Amino acid sequence: MITADRAVALVGRPNVGKSRLFNALARKRIAIVDRQPGVTRDVNTVEVDGDYTLMDTGGIGLTPEMDAQQLADAVEEQVFFAVQAARVICYLVDGREGLTPLDEIISDRLRHLGKQPILVVNKIDDPGLEIKAAEFSRLGLATTVSVSAEHGRGLDALREVVSEALGPDLGVEPEAQTRRVRICFAGRPNVGKSSICNRLLASERLLVNEVPGTTRDSVALDLDFQFSGGDEIHFRLVDTAGLKRHGKVGSAVEYFSSVRSHHAIREADIVFLVLDAMSGVTRQDKNLGGEILEAGKALGVIVNKWDYAQETFSRNPLTGYKNEEDFRRTFLEALRKNLFFMPNSPVIFTSAKSGFGIEEVLHAAHEMDLILARELPTSRVNQLLSQLLQRRKPRLVKGSRFKVYYGVQTSRRPFRIRLYCNQATRLDAPYRRYLAAGFNSEFGLRGCPLIFEIIGKPVRKAKSDARQSGARPGKRKAHGR
Ligand code: GDP
Repeated sequence: MITADRAVALVGRPNVGKSRLFNALARKRIAIVDRQPGVTRDVNTVEVDGDYTLMDTGGIGLTPEMDAQQLADAVEEQVFFAVQAARVICYLVDGREGLTPLDEIISDRLRHLGKQPILVVNKIDDPGLEIKAAEFSRLGLATTVSVSAEHGRGLDALREVVSEALGPDLGVEPEAQTRRVRICFAGRPNVGKSSICNRLLASERLLVNEVPGTTRDSVALDLDFQFSGGDEIHFRLVDTAGLKRHGKVGSAVEYFSSVRSHHAIREADIVFLVLDAMSGVTRQDKNLGGEILEAGKALGVIVNKWDYAQETFSRNPLTGYKNEEDFRRTFLEALRKNLFFMPNSPVIFTSAKSGFGIEEVLHAAHEMDLILARELPTSRVNQLLSQLLQRRKPRLVKGSRFKVYYGVQTSRRPFRIRLYCNQATRLDAPYRRYLAAGFNSEFGLRGCPLIFEIIGKPVRKAKSDARQSGARPGKRKAHGR
């Protein structure tokens, strides 16, 4: 996958040939190339040669009939986006038409934002027109390439210059082979956290090693677990202070104090929220679940002490339920309703007393770890974003609507999705949850949280207030359709 920062953006006023050049560089016809501005979507992107993401920013801020000020606002918006999102900027001008005031505005903005673009003088269809390109030297830009996107002239030279500006692809560092999945158990006192640990540690298939360098207050254990299929999975149980040692490690009185559990949550990749089957989901459980997600940790749920339910059914079925399984289903439904903010988290029913379901915990951790390692393809991320934004429109902020131009995954464990937006407004919590839920179901992220990083222009207070009061009528839509 192309790393998030290998992006090249095309900027320039309408009709200089951005779409045409976009298609030519992409070596295929993607967008409908039309001389009418505004036919392309806000930002068109394509992955070129598996090396970089090419972006045509030409659609940003365009509306069908724009006055000069709206046009200037739109190109300013394009330039802002391009500077934030791309490593390399190709600034397109029309060689036949010559330098226009709008070109100079773009040039000023780029300079103001501290970005040196590659100046691409387009529509130089034959060597005789080269003289026209000379006029642009007034802009004082170091690198200039003249091309004809239409006839393919000069494109190889442009590709070379772009590639040099991008530099080599250093890629993402591969994950260390000995990387361990760091897990911990969190929950109210007496739900059975220590008992679960001890049950786990008693497993024949587990090899346990104390992690050197940990102190008496904070003990981590390395666990190598042999799944029945033969795979060996490497875990680290973080912050097990309080587990008393005996045999492999110990029978414990208490897993950790509540202060420690916050520390453990921070240290872990995956946190299991342990609930007591007898008390269901309490307010404290809900709060803790929210806190774990807030901390950006993958979250699984363990319903412990299930032996009570099993025992009850073995003796005397509860009225209203066919069997234990039926009861479990109802329990799960109620639990999902209560923990609505974590809809896809795995839920495991266990008994630390009998050992029921205990190994399932490690299976779930392994499954979540595989999900956490995923790369979310940029094209699917953007398709999904556009669907989600269409399905439910974000609210209006100071007269214009929050809009996402482009999204890209910037890291995993946890997933970070950078959203390039028209405004740097904070996503309100319900809308963020809505987006996260959309990602969760589209990519099957099962309890693994997403963090959205918003990149956008600061909302200019004075200007937008002036707009709101009607000082500049008709300009309100300049930043969005
Ligand atoms: P912690 O505070 O969450 O670490 O809870 P403990 O592991 O210390 O367990 C609290 C109490 O619940 C102890 O008396 C355990 O023996 C009991 N307990 C823990 N897990 C189970 C279980 O699955 N079934 C039953 N019946 N009792 C359990």
